[in-house]
Amino acid sequence: MPFYDFFCADCQKRVAVFQSYKDYGVVSPVCPDCGGKHLKRKPSRVRIAKSDERRMEEMADPGALFGDVDENDPKSVARAMRKMGQQMGEELPQEFSEITDRLESGESPESIEQSLPDLGGGAGASDD
Ligand SMILES: [Zn+2]
Repeated sequence: MPFYDFFCADCQKRVAVFQSYKDYGVVSPVCPDCGGKHLKRKPSRVRIAKSDERRMEEMADPGALFGDVDENDPKSVARAMRKMGQQMGEELPQEFSEITDRLESGESPESIEQSLPDLGGGAGASDD
């Protein structure tokens, strides 16, 4: 059963309301917190609690690991790469740990790339 993200005008809270697809848009949602009926649909994507749900998403979808990465922050990128490496559970090429080390020390990806000419050539990581 899907749940929908609403904002309750009565208790001024964000609440998740369970409704079947059939009921959605037909039956007025009721706030599970205060029982109020002045709920406004939130346009955002469905989420319950950030922390736990996010962790589950990450486990289910390794791609989500990159959701939090700030591409302008080399350390953030390095963390994601390490995490990915650990998840793959395979022995990673020496370049991989070298790159993450250098990212973590604050070196820019561009300068690392330039110093590692072997990496060039369509890894699909171009900027766009
Ligand atoms: Zn309420």
